[in-house]
Amino acid sequence: MKVLVAVKRVVDYKVQIRVKSDNSGVETQNVKMSVNPPDENAIEEAVKLKEQGLANEIISVSIGDDKSQDVLRTSMAMGIDRSILVKSQNTLEPLAVAKTLKIIIDKEKPDLVLMGKQAIDDDSNQTGQILSALLNWPQGCFISNLKIENNKVFISREIDEGIENLETSLPAVLTCDLRLNTPRFASLPNIMKAKKKPLETIDIDTLGIDTSSKIKTLKVIDPPKRKAGIMVNDVKELVQKLKYEAKVI
Ligand code: AMP
Repeated sequence: MKVLVAVKRVVDYKVQIRVKSDNSGVETQNVKMSVNPPDENAIEEAVKLKEQGLANEIISVSIGDDKSQDVLRTSMAMGIDRSILVKSQNTLEPLAVAKTLKIIIDKEKPDLVLMGKQAIDDDSNQTGQILSALLNWPQGCFISNLKIENNKVFISREIDEGIENLETSLPAVLTCDLRLNTPRFASLPNIMKAKKKPLETIDIDTLGIDTSSKIKTLKVIDPPKRKAGIMVNDVKELVQKLKYEAKVI
């Protein structure tokens, strides 16, 4: 089985993001960037499938500028065999990302695509779903457990009512939840080894797809500052305040 993992480079989750002074977006210059957290779970799951002997080749793909090489190197330090960077200077929306991934998938012919459930920069939660529709493959979203047996895929996913257990077939697109596993740390020897693993670069302009934005960002602003909270002495006082001051009950 061949597994393809989609990896996005995003502002590190520990960074307090800042709005650019011209209000055109979020500052990404001189800010720590990392692998999108649920994509690390996707990488970890692919590496586990290889360790279990279920996958014989695991590859990662990122769409972004040259700097996205660092997240691909991280994925290879975690155990991915080789990577593909689709170079794009523009930040792409989920539809354009899915169209790009589809072209790579048509060429690489993986049996399974693992991705994050959501990118923490745009919080779109769309790419996996669009990709499965474009490929006409089954999808499993927000998976928190995965088992593959006799070419059958068994997944668990958290829904409002509890845990939903589903079975599907390969090929499939699965998007990973943070609960799926604990991503391993890349050891120093593996970071060194990853520098020598193959990283292919493809220019997005050679793929012949429409990557134009369908959404125009008018302005990005900080959320209004929250007022300081107050301490109440007891439940009675809390109810009074909610009833007569805030008038919410
Ligand atoms: P989103 O739909 O933007 O929330 O992203 C969902 C998932 O799609 C991410 O967790 C990644 O696995 C994948 N993805 C989104 N954008 C990219 C990108 N530029 N390069 C590679 N994978 C991406």
